[in-house]
Amino acid sequence: MGIYTNVLECYKLTDTLTYMKTKKIKNFKMNRETFPLRRKVIDLIYEAKKGGVNLPRIEVRIGEQSSAKHKNVLGCAKIKGNQMWITKDAIDLGSDILRNIVFHEIAHAVYGTQHDESCPLMCSALSEDAILNKEDCLKHLLKYQPMEK
Ligand SMILES: [Zn+2]
Repeated sequence: MGIYTNVLECYKLTDTLTYMKTKKIKNFKMNRETFPLRRKVIDLIYEAKKGGVNLPRIEVRIGEQSSAKHKNVLGCAKIKGNQMWITKDAIDLGSDILRNIVFHEIAHAVYGTQHDESCPLMCSALSEDAILNKEDCLKHLLKYQPMEK
């Protein structure tokens, strides 16, 4: 597990937004248990690409919260660093909720998008009764994509 000095930003299930200076997700080793979990995240990134989102290669790591006090952390992204961390808890919430989390982290990781409490995709807390469907997730993510030159 590396030390990241960049400001990482986290997506929490409840509570207020936090900016982080240290990583709060501990990476799992890449093994037979972890690959299928990562596959689910990568499949959602492909789904975004197929939907018309232009994306660079994004590095995806799966892990668990580094301590109980970060138990709400579902994902983190390196702002404009094309890297994201997704927790196993987030994956266990099912693919519809996971899509909301992954698309949210894509906007941070690729576009450097900040939180916007008026946007259902980029608000700082994911609320379980406001999960976006596939089309709406895509629509909101595309909003942040810079225009083609
Ligand atoms: Zn966020």
